[in-house]
Order: sequence, then C-alpha cells, then structure tokens
Amino acid sequence: MRLSRYFLPILRETPKEAEIVSHRLMLRAGLIRQEAAGIYAWLPAGLRVLNKINAIVREEQNRSGAIELLMPTIQSADLWRESGRYEAYGKEMLRIKDRHERDMLFGPTNEEMITEIFRAYVRSYKDLPLNLYHIQWKFRDEVRPRFGVMRSREFLMKDAYSFDLDKDAARHSYNKMFVAYLRTFQRLGLTSIPMRADTGPIGGDLSHEFIILASTGESEVYCDRSVLDLPVPGADTNFDDPAALQSIVEAWTTPYAATSEMHDAAAFEAIPGERKVSARGIEVGHIFYFGTKYSAPMKAMVSGPDGVERPVHMGSYGIGPSRLAAALIEASHDEAGIIWPDAVAPFRVALLNLKVGDSGTDAACETIYRALGARGVDVLYDDREERPGAKFATADLVGMPWQVLVGPKGLAEGKVELKRRATGERTLVTVEDAVALLS
Ligand code: ATP
Ligand code: MG
Ligand code: MG
Ligand code: MG
Repeated sequence: MRLSRYFLPILRETPKEAEIVSHRLMLRAGLIRQEAAGIYAWLPAGLRVLNKINAIVREEQNRSGAIELLMPTIQSADLWRESGRYEAYGKEMLRIKDRHERDMLFGPTNEEMITEIFRAYVRSYKDLPLNLYHIQWKFRDEVRPRFGVMRSREFLMKDAYSFDLDKDAARHSYNKMFVAYLRTFQRLGLTSIPMRADTGPIGGDLSHEFIILASTGESEVYCDRSVLDLPVPGADTNFDDPAALQSIVEAWTTPYAATSEMHDAAAFEAIPGERKVSARGIEVGHIFYFGTKYSAPMKAMVSGPDGVERPVHMGSYGIGPSRLAAALIEASHDEAGIIWPDAVAPFRVALLNLKVGDSGTDAACETIYRALGARGVDVLYDDREERPGAKFATADLVGMPWQVLVGPKGLAEGKVELKRRATGERTLVTVEDAVALLS
C-alpha cells in the first residue's frame, strides 16, 4: 500500500478524552474513530488488525473442532422470553421495536438463538458433540463505556456454543475451548491466565476467565506466579483425547488464580510470598459450562443410546477481538507509539522513502516494494513528500514491526537500513538482503 493513496488519518494532538494509552494510540494512529458513546468506526489500518486477530481466533477454533456459522445481530424478544432472560437481562440490552410493533433486540450474546437453531435440527446423541461459533457484533448498553474499544457498547465477539449428551462429554468440550484459548492468546503474543470466575447472569457451575495482566485492567486479580511459567499446548495437541486435555487443564488450574469475585484470601495467603501476584487484569476471554440452563426451558432435547430424551448439556465460550486490539497495545507500546506483534500488525513492513524525487532512492524503494509485494509481505510504503522526521514518527506511532529506511546516503554505499520497531536495533544491508530478510 502506498501511503500517498491510503487513508491513515494520523492525529497530531493527544486526544483529551482518552484516559489510557491504548485508547490514545488507537485514535492518534488512525485506527478507530468514535461515532457515538462506546460506538466506533474501524478505520482501514484498525480493520487490518481486527481481521488478523479474527483469523487467529478462527484458526484455533477450527483446530479444536468448532464449526463456524453466522447468526444475525438483531434477535426476536420472543426467544428471550422462552429462556426467561428478556426481563432479567436489564438495561444492558438494547431493545428495539420494528414497524409492526414487534419487540426485537440487538444481541448482547446468542445462547437463546443457538439453542433455537440446535433444537430445530438435532434430536440424537449420534449428532453430538457439536460446537458452533460465530464472530459477530454485539451490543451491550454499558453503564460506563470507556477506554475506547476496551469497553465499548458495540463490540465484536467470537462466541462458541457446545452441545453434549451429558456432563462428562460437556467437560471435554469445555477443555477443548480451554486449550484453544491458551493457544489463541499465545499466538497473539499475549500471556493469558485462566482464572476461576463467577458465572454472572449466564449461570452455571464451571467457568474460567482468561486474563491479561495490565495496570489499566478493570479486574482485580490474584494468582500464583508459577502459572506464568506453564507451557502452552502445541499445535499437535490431540483434541480428541479427553484424558490428555483433562491433564492439561488440571496443570493450568492447579496454581491459585482467581478474580476478585471468586477470591479466597486464605488460599492466597498460603502461597509463598515471592510467588504471590496481586494485580490488575483485562478479561479477554470467558468460558462457561452451564448444563441445561437454556436447553431445559427451551426444550432442546436429544435422545441417548437408551432412547430416552433429555435436555442437551451446553457451554458457551467468548473472546473479544475488538477488546483484544486494545489489550495488545496496553501490553506492547513505548513513548513513540504502538509496537505490534508480527502476527497482528496492520502491515509487516514500513518502507520509508527518505528523499522522494531522488531517482536512485525512488528506484530502490520501488524495487523493494514490488519484491516484497510479490512475496506476499504487507508493506506500507511511505512515498509522501514529507521530511524524514515526520516519516519516522508515523512509522513508530503506527507500529509496524519492521522499518526499511531508504535514503541517498546509504544507497551511495549500496545499503538501506533495517530497523526493528520493538528494540530500535538498526542494521545496514543491501536491497537484496533486506528483501530476503523480510520475506
Ligand atoms: P466485562 O466483565 O468486561 O464486562 P463480560 O464478563 O460482561 O465482560 P462476557 O459476557 O464474558 O463479558 O463476554 C465475553 C467476552 O467479550 C469478554 O471476555 C470480553 O473479551 C468481551 N467483551 C465483553 N464486554 C465487552 C465490551 N463492553 N467491550 C468490548 N469487549 C467486551
Ligand atoms: Mg460485562
Ligand atoms: Mg466479566
Ligand atoms: Mg465474562
């Protein structure tokens, strides 16, 4: 992408309304724009990040055996009357009337709808286990939307729903998601901690929140430091082996880790002093097993091998990709701007032409731009007529993992400069080596 033809609206001033660094940087780097309280447009570079996060989330959901579909954002209130949640959900739900005065709502979550889909088609244990997920916009009329897309009213969620014949099978489905979540956050470059959590309005008796430690996090969390050293399961994990998954989950849930709602002060005190972590964290994912909470009232029944019908056992599993974009910045930035992990950067490489109009510099940049493009590398080519200082600042602010600095001085010796954003480390290399190293 040539920056002269792209849409990257950088802000010079620090926006006053932004209280935390990720919000400030997302506004300044031209990633998002607020359209109403807690409602954001994703500008082109922000959308690239969001799509890359979604791609990783999707790959790990698919790897674990979950199947993607897409449910609508607008739901009928009648579905929620069946489960009894229409009145119970309260003011967080955005209620809408259509032209026929029918009660509709903008979905804050999809348990009811997926239960309706399931019961329409599935009757037998032979079609289980089943895990269906989508990545879809949600609306929750938060009391205090704040921190940009970290706590917005309209936000993106990956929500998966599992269906099993009994509690043991449901436990295996839960464990699959537990492992998929560990892998997803690691691939995003984050250290996540599964913590015993309250089940909240969704209900149930088995639940973990996946937390990223960050001083600006809204959750108060407590854990044993040893949980940070556990190995994340590899891509070769066998998701069809219940015993193997159970032992991974046991290893990850043995060290103490809980959010304030589930905190057990006595158990925490028993941890040796140097291992006690009392900190703030960001909830980036949450998994629940809730049994027959929805299937019983909504009559989602399956027959077992004995021919007897029973309500199906369910779980639900959420990840917030839009919140994750902000969480990633909280975890990785410096005074100059964002430092994207390679996996989700809007572009892998920022190519800086330090003297537009100089024929040698222009030619070298074109060569690099074309060669990287041909190798499938995302490049943002700063071909604007701007002074070098402004180009350095933009590249640092937007946070591409690699920068290639091309100017007449270096080219006189046949070299360009390669800069790693995270460390600031610079090396002089030939044009050919720059292309080889970055592809
Ligand atoms: P919170 O405690 O932050 O209000 P929640 O517990 O209400 O979140 P869940 O119902 O567990 O959220 O939803 C699953 C995931 O959706 C959360 O773990 C989070 O990543 C994301 N999420 C929830 N609410 C928001 C929001 N207002 N803005 C952005 N992401 C959100
Ligand atoms: Mg909430
Ligand atoms: Mg929560
Ligand atoms: Mg939650």
